[in-house]
Amino acid sequence: MEFNNKKLTRTKKLIHYLISIALAIFLIGLANRIIGDLDETAHRPNLQDFETATEVHKYRLLNNAVQDSIRDIISDKNALQLNLDLASTTLKQERSSFKSWISTRRATQSSSLDIEVRKRNLIMDSIQEIITTYQREKTSKEASIQELRVLSLNRQRLIDEEMDQVYEMYSQAVHSFELKVFLKRLLFVFPVLLLGIWMLVKRRKHIYWPLFRGFVFFSFYAFFVGLVPYLPSYGGYVRYAIGILLSLFLGIYAIRSLQAFIKRKKEELQQSTAARSQQIKEEVAEKALENHMCPSCGKDYLINELHQSGGKKGMSGKFKVTTYCRHCGLQLFKDCDSCETTNYAHLPHCYSCGDLVTKKEIIESVHNTG
Ligand SMILES: [Zn+2]
Ligand SMILES: [Zn+2]
Repeated sequence: MEFNNKKLTRTKKLIHYLISIALAIFLIGLANRIIGDLDETAHRPNLQDFETATEVHKYRLLNNAVQDSIRDIISDKNALQLNLDLASTTLKQERSSFKSWISTRRATQSSSLDIEVRKRNLIMDSIQEIITTYQREKTSKEASIQELRVLSLNRQRLIDEEMDQVYEMYSQAVHSFELKVFLKRLLFVFPVLLLGIWMLVKRRKHIYWPLFRGFVFFSFYAFFVGLVPYLPSYGGYVRYAIGILLSLFLGIYAIRSLQAFIKRKKEELQQSTAARSQQIKEEVAEKALENHMCPSCGKDYLINELHQSGGKKGMSGKFKVTTYCRHCGLQLFKDCDSCETTNYAHLPHCYSCGDLVTKKEIIESVHNTG
């Protein structure tokens, strides 16, 4: 592998993130298993269990009996209807045959005609009687169906009332079951979250920070995502309340550490330029050079010729490098003692001859302060 410092820094960052994410993923998988096992110990309430505690079964059986009777009577009524239709058809045929028969007879054949007419009328009357009986029966069946329907409606109302009770008991049981599961999970996840926060605050400078960061990812996931599908309605309060507390806590922590950093920087700026120059680390110096920033006060050291000249004509508006920082007075560039080439003052070697650039300065400043 070629030694490319920029690439190495990027690769290091990427590998560290991969380590964090891989650890977080495995921790999440393990935690899900543990949480799943925790849940199995609790028994989820069943709707049927609560039905037995009420009269709903009894009413249901009674209602079924009523429904059965209704069905029986309806099938009886249908059979009756068939008979009724048959009788009506027979009567109609009988009447029409009688009509055509009588129209062909003469009044002179009176004695034999009389007997025949009486006979035929008798048949028709008896059929009519049967029809009337059938109709009466049908009406009575219809009445009893109506009665049973009203009864069934009442039974259904009783069943509904009982079921209301069942649902209420059931939903209470589900509520307390979910609360139990939620609290059990919270008992497991909350300490994990606290540990994650502690690591986030206290272990950021640690050489194993990528591993700690993996745990931090896991702890936040476990609390804010892992708990969600099992949160009973009021569980949302817990999550949001803790989310608010966390934002406040981490927010205050971040603001304070930022202010402490600024204060430290300001105090540093009170020191002599030589002392400050000594404290500048190489990677800071390198970054600062890349971004044309003063490595001590962080401000840009390039100046625009045009601005600096007060708008004089003939100025190109190009940027110029300054030897000293305009803001804090730190020496930024100086000549090499060996070859007099102008070098950035905070990297160790002269780019032209390779001699040490900073060494002398350090020795001088140590000599001055001592
Ligand atoms: Zn400066
Ligand atoms: Zn040199």
